[in-house]
Amino acid sequence: MVRPAADRIGRALDLLGDQWVLLILQQAFAGVRRYNDWKHALGISDAVLAARLRSLVDVGVLSRQPYRDERRMREEYRLTGTGLALWEVLTAIWAWEYRWVPGRTDELPVLFHDRCERPCVPVLACRACDALVTARDTSTERHGRVGEVATRRRFRRSDWGAIADHPELFFPETMAILGDRWSTALTAAAFLGVGRFSELERELGIQPSVLSQRLSALVDQGVLERRQEAGRRAVHYGLTEKGLAFFPVFALMIAWADRTFTDAPCSLTIRHRACGERLRPALRCDVCGLRLERRHVHFARRDAPRSPAASPLPPDRRPSPTAR
Ligand SMILES: [Zn+2]
Ligand SMILES: [Zn+2]
Repeated sequence: MVRPAADRIGRALDLLGDQWVLLILQQAFAGVRRYNDWKHALGISDAVLAARLRSLVDVGVLSRQPYRDERRMREEYRLTGTGLALWEVLTAIWAWEYRWVPGRTDELPVLFHDRCERPCVPVLACRACDALVTARDTSTERHGRVGEVATRRRFRRSDWGAIADHPELFFPETMAILGDRWSTALTAAAFLGVGRFSELERELGIQPSVLSQRLSALVDQGVLERRQEAGRRAVHYGLTEKGLAFFPVFALMIAWADRTFTDAPCSLTIRHRACGERLRPALRCDVCGLRLERRHVHFARRDAPRSPAASPLPPDRRPSPTAR
């Protein structure tokens, strides 16, 4: 259940901070519309699949459509306009995993831009002035608590089912950030420039032991780094290059949340400093420079055969050779 007070970002995270939802959407974009096809593709349990489809319908990302099979009327699920607009978020997640997560470049499918007929990695641009945008080119204004999420979901190893054999389906490091409310809140705080332990403790209302544990996990993941402030004992947690590169996922998710959850409070405004406009992000092809449109990109499996020694598990889940 989403609390009515949740802000737009919290509402988006309640929905998208869940690996099953991302996988269901990924399959929907690949053309899956029917319950049994998701079940077959993902090896997902009935309880999980039914609950996730229900929340996607409730939010208006999928809509139920009747169809007749040989025996009776059934329902299938189609992406609505709101759902189709999520392609940019999913593409930004792919791009971050592809570029920044060790070992993922060889596992993930390749994104083709049909206009230039080249594989590409999208980059973020501002719709108002068309310039490329990174986290460093923006300023943020907060109007309330950011990204409070009501639910806490975990993607457990026992849930993997049929997808354990398909590393291209995982978003392991994205889920380490988006799938945990404290990790999301800490990463969001880092984008807002809040990074001292005491500040984080106060801002987020988080227990010190939980805060330490989540901070070390994000440091281990290479998203945050510890910095000693000059001449002071205080330690500051800041985003690494890898952490900063997650910005397109946040920016596109926030833009989608602003368009989708108009009845919820807006807690954050991101501005593009160069043009002064509120950031409306777009994706651009890094090869030809054109703005990417959903109909002009497609994912394709890479042709190179995978090494027979390749593990079916994502890199961070592989047992280390020395592990006992
Ligand atoms: Zn701009
Ligand atoms: Zn292109």
